[in-house]
Amino acid sequence: MKTGAEKSLQIRNGCKEKRSMASGCLRKVAPAVFACFMGILFAAGCGARVPRYEALDTAMGTVIRQSIYTREEDITAEVEYIIETLEKSELSWRLPDTEAAKINAAAGRGEPVMVSDKLYEDLITLLEVSQKSGGAFDFTVGPVVQLWNIDEWAAGEQADAVIPDKEKIAQALQNTGYEKVVMENGGISLSEGMSLDLGAVGKGLACDRIAVFLEEKEVYGAVISVGGSILTYGKKPDNTPWQVGIINPEDTSSMIGTLSLKGQWCVSTSGDYERYVMVDGVRYHHILDPATGYPADSGIRSVTVLCQSGVLSDALSTACFVLGKEEGMELVKSYGAEALFVDKEGTISMTDGMRDIFRETGEY
Ligand code: AMP
Ligand code: MG
Repeated sequence: MKTGAEKSLQIRNGCKEKRSMASGCLRKVAPAVFACFMGILFAAGCGARVPRYEALDTAMGTVIRQSIYTREEDITAEVEYIIETLEKSELSWRLPDTEAAKINAAAGRGEPVMVSDKLYEDLITLLEVSQKSGGAFDFTVGPVVQLWNIDEWAAGEQADAVIPDKEKIAQALQNTGYEKVVMENGGISLSEGMSLDLGAVGKGLACDRIAVFLEEKEVYGAVISVGGSILTYGKKPDNTPWQVGIINPEDTSSMIGTLSLKGQWCVSTSGDYERYVMVDGVRYHHILDPATGYPADSGIRSVTVLCQSGVLSDALSTACFVLGKEEGMELVKSYGAEALFVDKEGTISMTDGMRDIFRETGEY
């Protein structure tokens, strides 16, 4: 009997295609499902000799779409497992035994919590992005994210959404601030009341971990989307570039254009359409300005960042959303990354490197 995660296995046009769907979670992530479908264009055909395995699952509260070319066995279930393990043992602040939850539980005790080398390295990267963005990206924004109840939001109207009082926001802000994080010798400690929120980078981190795994498995080529972060890896058998679509924030059923990429890249997008609530006609989205405690209002509707590190592309896309176009461009350039901004008027702006690989919808 097939498991819930493996509904069918088909051979089509010489490609092996597995469709898998974790049961029960799709209602909550429905907008993300659509976004992911739009995010990667799987239009490419299969090379004659390298089989393609495909999978569609949910993890990390989002949709995971995989397309892997390999002459070896199907590894899509292992990729899914890597993402679930990352969430359940390292990143989630809600589950008691994760590394993030242990760091949060020890806040104010003065004793550093030792974390794995990998996570320590990633947290150092994130602390640096916090510093270089002047706190526009701040992984200690947790108390304010929890106050807004962002984890419960899907995309769209929510009748019972409550906008927190100004006083409560001011109070929660007292317990944020990357400057108060102490990191040394493999350990991290927070001041009392603080809590880490790695929601802005979990998907990018997943892309990094998956890339290491694909290398170990000697995969020929792959394109994998973890919600708003997409990993391209290796080659397509026909040697054409990977095509990654960028969603139109004004109409999320369409794309503003596509990126043509060869080799290993991470593409992360932060957009105000991903998670939000509408209250009295006002859109409150999930990317907060840590300076005010309110949804960032820099005139931007979405930012897409491209670089070779998933943790960086994901942190930078969030930072750029808060900073806006001018300061965001400066930040990405300082990392040698590329970015594309869509503002509230629908105007598209991008770095020079992005211009070389971006093709706007309808442009030939
Ligand atoms: P993303 O969609 O990648 O930009 O990440 C947004 C998520 O990161 C939110 O759901 C929050 O959990 C968290 N977050 C919101 N604002 C910030 C911020 N300014 N810095 C860091 N994390 C944030
Ligand atoms: Mg991000």
